[in-house]
Amino acid sequence: VALGSDGVRVTMESALTARDRVGVQDFVLLENFTSEAAFIENLRRRFRENLIYTYIGPVLVSVNPYRDLQIYSRQHMERYRGVSFYEVPPHLFAVADTVYRALRTERRDQAVMISGESGAGKTEATKRLLQFYAETCPAPERGGAVRDRLLQSNPVLEAFGNAKTLRNDNSSRFGKYMDVQFDFKGAPVGGHILSYLLEKSRVVHQNHGERNFHVFYQLLEGGEEETLRRLGLERNPQSYLYLVKGQCAKVSSINDKNDWKVVRKALTVIDFTEDEVEDLLSIVASVLHLGNLHFAANEESNAQVTTENQLKYLTRLLGVEGSTLREALTHRKIIAKGEELLSPLNLEQAAYARDALAKAVYSRTFTWLVAKINRSLASKDAESPSWRSTTVLGLLDIYGFEVFQHNSFEQFCINYCNEKLQQLFIELTLKSEQEEYEAEGIAWEPVQYFNNKIICDLVEEKFKGIISILDEECLRPGEATDLTFLEKLEDTVKHHPHFLTHKLADQRTRKSLGRGEFRLLHYAGEVTYSVTGFLDKNNDLLFRNLKETMCSSENPIMSQCFDRSELSDKKRPETVATQFKMSLLQLVEILKSKEPAYVRCIKPNDAKQPGRFDEVLIRHQVKYLGLMENLRVRRAGFAYRRKYEAFLQRYKSLCPETWPTWAGRPQDGVAVLIRHLGYKPEEYKMGRTKIFIRFPKTLFATEDALEV
Ligand code: ATP
Ligand code: MG
Repeated sequence: VALGSDGVRVTMESALTARDRVGVQDFVLLENFTSEAAFIENLRRRFRENLIYTYIGPVLVSVNPYRDLQIYSRQHMERYRGVSFYEVPPHLFAVADTVYRALRTERRDQAVMISGESGAGKTEATKRLLQFYAETCPAPERGGAVRDRLLQSNPVLEAFGNAKTLRNDNSSRFGKYMDVQFDFKGAPVGGHILSYLLEKSRVVHQNHGERNFHVFYQLLEGGEEETLRRLGLERNPQSYLYLVKGQCAKVSSINDKNDWKVVRKALTVIDFTEDEVEDLLSIVASVLHLGNLHFAANEESNAQVTTENQLKYLTRLLGVEGSTLREALTHRKIIAKGEELLSPLNLEQAAYARDALAKAVYSRTFTWLVAKINRSLASKDAESPSWRSTTVLGLLDIYGFEVFQHNSFEQFCINYCNEKLQQLFIELTLKSEQEEYEAEGIAWEPVQYFNNKIICDLVEEKFKGIISILDEECLRPGEATDLTFLEKLEDTVKHHPHFLTHKLADQRTRKSLGRGEFRLLHYAGEVTYSVTGFLDKNNDLLFRNLKETMCSSENPIMSQCFDRSELSDKKRPETVATQFKMSLLQLVEILKSKEPAYVRCIKPNDAKQPGRFDEVLIRHQVKYLGLMENLRVRRAGFAYRRKYEAFLQRYKSLCPETWPTWAGRPQDGVAVLIRHLGYKPEEYKMGRTKIFIRFPKTLFATEDALEV
């Protein structure tokens, strides 16, 4: 099909025409490797030919085709098993197989990090990888069900954590890291999932053209008559205020009814009892009822519940006292001087409390769900001796860099996450390049690169970092506002080269910055954040009496989600940003302990359509994904490197002394071969096990010689 970086040609065409038509399989072979235009042109050529995969050395770049290319069949899996990475056209399965073999032979833990913006194909890639392992790995001696559980955990998580957005009809609204454990025979025996920052604001509000989480529509469409009756639900999503904000309950690409069947089955596979399913659905339904709960003001402007029917269902589904819930929804409990006071809420406050409860109920249920899945995935062999010899393969499917018209707290967290991952990537890539050079006995030439640690510090540093300052403001309820937070930022961060506000900007830049905004110069570019809502979202407040009410819930899932220990005043819960920061630090440690592999996903257009290559959009992503930087590091020394055996095998016909067989060491054979071909000393280096070639043109010339 195309020319590999090892020069293997899969078609009969001449290498040159293949190169012109379908581009190079590995960007390191681009002559003009610093040119972004050349990079994008190569992507375009390949995309036109439905070649969605291209390498940057070991990194796989993938462009979402938005059509079924029939390239993930069992035959495709077999084709990539056990073959050398560069001897077959680039493919996700080549990465899958390489990673798996490294895990087996070197017994080192592996991590595949999949990144890209919304709709780029991260989740699809994760699913294909899991499928590959489920289908091609040997079955474990015991507990064969784990393979099904690994696969079936996905529809459940997607039902509760994915939603239709403007960018993606099946957008993951949480970050996910999944470990798959393999036993000493290479069979999958267990798994574990970590989830990050579910976008819970979606529970109560959706932008135009977007939906709430899939599960609500699935249940309404697909739930049995009797189930819906028990839950007090109507089929029509239009009846629920939490489902109508985006005005698009129906999506042509989604079949909620069918999806519900899949989810229902999957729940059973991952060990849900019928009772647990009922409890779970009660919670889903209670969120919908909460959305329809109305208040009216009495003479004193205090909120009163007017929708008795909703309250009745809520009471039953959540298993709480009706009067307690009513009081908690319309009053706030304050503890002053050891005395409890009940202060009535006005309409606005009551609506706020209700929405906060809906968000808390839903997001805690999601966390519970992940824990439940983890119990089902936990290796049943944990106690046996073979447990110690398990190796782990991690899959990271996490939100890419986000820049919208309007950027808020959520984008701030997501982009911070991307800074951390970029930092890890640079660190690990440089390290592995350096290690390879050292292992091969080749002098390492230092590479110039931008170290984004300075931006990570700006966000996460103790006392002086943005998160610390935000947390500090969150400790001053009543006094602090989003704007005092901004002022404090301006005072503390001031002359940082990556930070700017209206006040700190010069005349020219000032125009583009509003008064309630700050701008960060991320590694991937500038993003302007509006501080509106930062304090509120970071505090994530749920009134005390609502918490108390939920702690008394007789729904077993709810009572696991709300724990009385939260009520003790001594322990102030961590803020959202700090929790996120800590979970990211933990993630980085997990990833650092593993051998990394990378899949960089690109979305070709905003219309979700096949065949459209929007250059502007793609150029942005090439930048955000740091692909040019990646290529530069990879090309800093040598464009191409290959084991002596493979190189000799490929080109031995070009030299009478090595053809048809070379009896001596492959390394010596390669030396004879390249002397015959007239390689100049500056063009290559001989390592311990590999030949390193500096320029692509040297390789292309050799490759073309094969043709003659
Ligand atoms: P988000 O960040 O919003 O979760 P994502 O990167 O996970 O986005 P996906 O859900 O994986 O994006 O992909 C979006 C859609 O693109 C899929 O539903 C599917 O229709 C299509 N798609 C993605 N990858 C492929 C592929 N390799 N082949 C065919 N279609 C694909
Ligand atoms: Mg996704």
